Amino acid sequence: MLQGIPVRLGFAMAALWVGAAVADTEAERLLKARQAEFTQEVIEVADGVYTAVGFGVSTSSMIVGDDGLIIIDTQIDEAAAQGVLAAFRERSDRPVRAIVLTHGHGDHTGGLRVFVGDGRPQIWGREGFGSEGRWLAQAGLTVQRLRGVRQAGMLLNSEQRINNGVAQAYWPKRRGPSGVFAAQNRPTHFFTGDRGALDVAGVRLQLVAADGETGDQLYAWLPDRRVLFAGDNFYKSWPNLYAIRGTGYRDVRAWIESLSRMIAERPQVLVGGHTRPVIGADRVTEVLTRYRDGIASIFEQTIAGMNQGLTPDELVETVKLPAELAELDYLKPYYGNVEWAVRAIFAGYLGWFDGNPSNLFPLSPADEARRVATLAGGAEALRTAARAALATDPQWTAQLCDRLLALDPDDAAAMLLKADALDALARELLTATGRNYYMTTALQLRRAAAEASTSGGSGSAGS
Ligand SMILES: [Zn+2]
Repeated sequence: MLQGIPVRLGFAMAALWVGAAVADTEAERLLKARQAEFTQEVIEVADGVYTAVGFGVSTSSMIVGDDGLIIIDTQIDEAAAQGVLAAFRERSDRPVRAIVLTHGHGDHTGGLRVFVGDGRPQIWGREGFGSEGRWLAQAGLTVQRLRGVRQAGMLLNSEQRINNGVAQAYWPKRRGPSGVFAAQNRPTHFFTGDRGALDVAGVRLQLVAADGETGDQLYAWLPDRRVLFAGDNFYKSWPNLYAIRGTGYRDVRAWIESLSRMIAERPQVLVGGHTRPVIGADRVTEVLTRYRDGIASIFEQTIAGMNQGLTPDELVETVKLPAELAELDYLKPYYGNVEWAVRAIFAGYLGWFDGNPSNLFPLSPADEARRVATLAGGAEALRTAARAALATDPQWTAQLCDRLLALDPDDAAAMLLKADALDALARELLTATGRNYYMTTALQLRRAAAEASTSGGSGSAGS
């Protein structure tokens, strides 16, 4: 009956949030300024070494050797890879002799077949390649794909999505969410231990084990031209020490050590897995050192706080990047977020229990919501408070809506109010993955509300 009204209101508000008439927030202004990192270009980073940026979502590089090419990373899909290959072909028509995959994530491997072509290049990776994807698959876990669609913003339009913080907004031409692990996109050659070397087309390229974003990560080091290809252990953003699509613990200490090893090579050029290369020995050393020191600072503060018995909720209140690091553009949380890193470090070492015995066997969400509603003077009083908070405190609105939905999972009005709160939170957040997650969930809540309304409130509101 009345349920149709909030649905229409909800859509009207959604149109407001994404409409051109609304002025950009500071976060949106910064995300839009980021687009400069994704301008499509092939950059000659050193003599005979080219890096393609702004084609798909990740970088690909080409080293021109005496009688052939070495390619490093192969884009997210074949369409992006074809664009890169065509641009590389304007610089060299020599055959591809070898391909190096810095790690197993789909955004670096999806276009492999295009670079393989009709030749039989060696395809190099590290032993254990694809371990993250295998670990999830062996458990039968699939929900990270749905969460990955939210994190990547695949269901959003371009105005909502803006970009992914370290890559342009891109909708892959292959099926599946970002971060899928295609079994066929695998190396033919593996190196074991700490360091391997590749001698192809007169080029000597070192491959170095570098645990970090993944346990199968490597960096490639071209010593004669001092170019370091970092994979995803470096890009210009606070790193994704934890991905909200759902990941196991990314070994932060190992990541710090990998960065120290990269600094010790004294590169002239640093090619990250995303964003534009950093060029110039002094600049590379400075950037890598501060990047490493930033991660180390958060790690050490978190461990110190854990040793004092602080819970994750308490830690995120106090653990911060030092001011002189926080202001650096390449450490701003465009993609990863310091708070999520702190929680990941806690969970990685101590697991889910925060140390507070009240949380050993907490009330169920419905039980807790009933008691909070009683304290507040009833569910409608909760709803009034949730509505009143929307303009100034959307986080509180969202948390109160969670109580309303715990009381009644088919409460369409609470879904719509929560959707508005999530959109408001999204617009203030710089971290693109979180922005995408908020906005996609808002979209899904509005759909669920429409379903709950048309089925008279008796349908399932799952999303
Ligand atoms: Zn990547």
